[in-house]
Amino acid sequence: MLDHDQPKSFALDRQHMVALQLRARGIRDERVLDAMARIPREEFVPQQFRHQAYGDHPIPIGQGQTISQPYIVALMLEALAIQPTDKVLEIGTGSGYLTAVLAELSSHVYSIERHSSLAQTAERVLAALGYRNINIVVGDGSKGLPAHAPYDAIIVSAAAPELPLAMVEQLRDGGRMIIPVGSTQSQELLLVRKQQDETVLKHLEGCRFVPLIGREDPAGE
Ligand code: SAH
Repeated sequence: MLDHDQPKSFALDRQHMVALQLRARGIRDERVLDAMARIPREEFVPQQFRHQAYGDHPIPIGQGQTISQPYIVALMLEALAIQPTDKVLEIGTGSGYLTAVLAELSSHVYSIERHSSLAQTAERVLAALGYRNINIVVGDGSKGLPAHAPYDAIIVSAAAPELPLAMVEQLRDGGRMIIPVGSTQSQELLLVRKQQDETVLKHLEGCRFVPLIGREDPAGE
């Protein structure tokens, strides 16, 4: 989908990121690897951090939030096994980088972000890159986005204190969801699968995300 003139150094950084941070650590999903080998991550990072865009760590994007580490993005996407026909919900648009990868892998992406400034920047970058299968909504996604449910897959980029059942309800039968669950200090990535009204949970690995802020949280404005 993307075909841009990119400075050599970013193209090289991107190849190294895919080889050393993703393939070498066991990411095998070729669709995920291919999308991440093409998407210009530097476009989603504030100007002063562009030189670090392919670093093996999160990067500040403003409003106290971060763009997720490339490896964690790939790990979550591989676990979700997104199909080209899937309708996907993303909670926490942030920079919009993961939104772009989702847009490459699926048929349509709804993405909700509580900070309107981040949502606007992400929307601008994604439009400039030519994505047409993304809707960004400004609001609280701690209970999902019922208006467009059910979803084939839901991906949450901020940690919830416990599994939000409202989101599980918005999954289609056979749908998958991935979400970090736990406190600010200690979290685990949970893969949730809905099968004939049964909810099957799989614990993946430890992780560290910014908190999912709900309407009732003291930090929420
Ligand atoms: N995948 C994103 C991660 C951004 S950090 C990226 O790589 O850029 C997580 C984002 O979740 C932040 O932008 C934060 O503002 C947002 N967020 C936290 N709680 C939220 C909520 N209840 N509803 C919507 N967005 C939320």
